[in-house]
Amino acid sequence: MSRVYNFSAGPAVLPEEVLKEAAEEMLDYRGCGMSVMEMSHRSKVYDTIIKEAEQDLRDLMNIPDNYKVLFLQGGASQQFAMIPMNLMKNRTADYIVTGQWAKKAYQEAQKYGRANCVASSADKTFSYIPDCSDLPIDEKADYVYICENNTIYGTKFKTLPDTKGKPLVADISSCFLSEPVDVAKYGMLYGGAQKNIGPAGVVIAVIREDLITEDVLPGTPTMLTYKTHADAESLYNTPPCYGIYICGKVFKWLKKMGGLEVMKARNEEKAKLLYDYLDSSKMFSGTVEKESRSLMNVPFVTGDAELDAKFVKEAKAAGLENLKGHRTVGGMRASIYNAMPKAGVEALVDFMRNFEEENLK
Ligand SMILES: *Cc1c(COP(=O)(O)O)cnc(C)c1O
Repeated sequence: MSRVYNFSAGPAVLPEEVLKEAAEEMLDYRGCGMSVMEMSHRSKVYDTIIKEAEQDLRDLMNIPDNYKVLFLQGGASQQFAMIPMNLMKNRTADYIVTGQWAKKAYQEAQKYGRANCVASSADKTFSYIPDCSDLPIDEKADYVYICENNTIYGTKFKTLPDTKGKPLVADISSCFLSEPVDVAKYGMLYGGAQKNIGPAGVVIAVIREDLITEDVLPGTPTMLTYKTHADAESLYNTPPCYGIYICGKVFKWLKKMGGLEVMKARNEEKAKLLYDYLDSSKMFSGTVEKESRSLMNVPFVTGDAELDAKFVKEAKAAGLENLKGHRTVGGMRASIYNAMPKAGVEALVDFMRNFEEENLK
């Protein structure tokens, strides 16, 4: 067996330890004679799995008691509708559009009310985070929405926008658990698990209790109402049981690693290796303004589409997989999530250095 260094943006690399443990428990989960995939979500064994997962996440993120943790389905994309359906009481919300995912959320919200775009970086292909210190926040806005880490473009908010007292709603799919966050600054945080936490099929939402009400837009399905899931502790219907179990293992792995301060330091160290090389290279360059650089997703180009394609192909042959950039950006993108070891980034930088030597005319 040989494993590659997988730089995919998502579904993405998971800690090897977690995968091995799951493999060991596949046929017989801790003496109960069945796999976690086969057991009732109402069983005592499963109840322990989901409760521990929630508690470990609460510990890792320091989630205050007045926030609920929900394990949901439908992908991060389903939240683009669920958020306005549940939170847009005045049918007004402000959106900061810093990439494709934020734009999709913004467009979806327009189906339910007045969604204002209060800031955008579309003018420079989303290569920076706009100044959000004095936004024209609508007095009636129910919330202000951001995508905190832009997976496709490789930008990240370094300071949160001034929402002028309105609840901040953030899509943190691709920076979930990459560094400490002050949950109390948000009304709601959410993300798909398949970027930095676990398998596809799980969405985790952390929502302040006062925002979870029965007062949702008319016609909102029971399954798309946060209160349904909050009241039932994420067991209203069958949750994505196996995915939550793997997420739980990743939470325990993160705790063992030392928590989010340690992950932040590790992630900074890994990202610095790559960014420093990009800044010194005569062939490769990063596509993002330095102040806005993401620690998780690093897009870069040679400036020559043919050379980019050659790089991706040769990297793959060398065991460095999924480096092709998103189809809307081109070039390359290295996603270096929590589970990507430093050795993987070192291997990538070595490969880039050699490629540059061989191909620079
Ligand atoms: C991947 C991604 C999404 C979409 O996630 P799905 O689970 O495929 O719906 C949304 N937002 C961000 C920031 C992402 O990276």
